[in-house]
Amino acid sequence: MSRCLVLNMDYTFLGVCDWKDAVCAVYTNKVIVEESYDEVIRSSSTQMRVPAVIRLRKYVRVVYERISYISYTKRNVHLRDAYVCQYCSIRCKGDEATIDHIIPESKGGVDSWENTVTCCKPCNLLKDNLTLAQAGMKLIKAPTRPKKLREVVRIKLGELHDLWLKYLA
Ligand SMILES: [Zn+2]
Repeated sequence: MSRCLVLNMDYTFLGVCDWKDAVCAVYTNKVIVEESYDEVIRSSSTQMRVPAVIRLRKYVRVVYERISYISYTKRNVHLRDAYVCQYCSIRCKGDEATIDHIIPESKGGVDSWENTVTCCKPCNLLKDNLTLAQAGMKLIKAPTRPKKLREVVRIKLGELHDLWLKYLA
């Protein structure tokens, strides 16, 4: 069944949840229902329309990770680089982004913020196990440890509902 859009008290987007969790939140009085689907759910004592958009009664402060806590992962390297190939500037779709070791692992290069960049598949084939000089390639900028990462919450197109649109503008 349908998913439910979750808004902060100030109408900013927080995420998407399962309709069952949304119903739970309504019954425990944590949220206000802003929009409902046509489907009705019934229990022995009551009935309600399935929530489509809910808003928290209490404001939740969204805290970004502090600099020392951003863990080094391939996914975080991609987020730092915004999925842009650091050689040719092409923006990769999620599964097309690879990690390039600037100093190749075969030459002693390590997994670190400074030695890895987002790289498209064609550039990764060109670079292969070569150093920058050997491959004749240049980085668009020197990679560093990011100060903060902002994760873009992606809503699957299939689950995007008309009732949500005015809250996502
Ligand atoms: Zn590239």
